[in-house]
Amino acid sequence: MSDLILVVEDELALRETLVYNLTHQGYTVESVADGQSAVDTARRLQPALIILDLMLPKLDGFEVTRILRKEMNMPILMLTARDEEIDRVLGLEMGADDYLTKPFSMRELLARVKAQLRRSHLVVDDLAEKTAQAVETLVFNDLVINLTRHEVTLSGQPLILKPKEFDLLLYFSRNRGHVLTREQILEQVWGWDFAGGSRTVDVHVRWLREKIEPGADEPARIITIRGVGYRFDG
Ligand code: CA
Repeated sequence: MSDLILVVEDELALRETLVYNLTHQGYTVESVADGQSAVDTARRLQPALIILDLMLPKLDGFEVTRILRKEMNMPILMLTARDEEIDRVLGLEMGADDYLTKPFSMRELLARVKAQLRRSHLVVDDLAEKTAQAVETLVFNDLVINLTRHEVTLSGQPLILKPKEFDLLLYFSRNRGHVLTREQILEQVWGWDFAGGSRTVDVHVRWLREKIEPGADEPARIITIRGVGYRFDG
């Protein structure tokens, strides 16, 4: 994520002060002086944060927020000259994340900017982590296989699986819906040099069924395909 900040302020002296101080802090800064340019520039550059004055030519800060909130979700720090509660509430309800009432100290503004950027970075990191976790987990209704931790749960209860039972379940789950012959299973789960016969597969399938299909008279997860092998239906 970029740390580009868009400053929207029609008062030249304040705009220049903001740009100077933010640039000095290491941020990349773009600045505009009216609401319409704010919308256009935000669409074009997708800044990480917007510092938005409330009273602006063309479109005011509320309008800008209302338009941008439908399209993007970067933090918006609203600047207002009017210290009236209604403005604050409206600004936040419209989708501003924070506000400062003029006059404010530059130190205070920089602290708010930093806090907002850190918060949005955290959200992005959190999402990335959740996505990574999702890849490591195979879910078949109440049966959950956690690949990273080699754990299997059924309705939230951990199952104790022997290593080969886990390997077998994993092989099944990665070939869900496909008929697998005993020979294929032996080769993939036990390896070529395994001395035992296909009976080994049957025994392990039985053990696995007892764990992942408890109480079921007819197996619904691991289906026997007569004369061929098995199919895992999830
Ligand atoms: Ca203004």
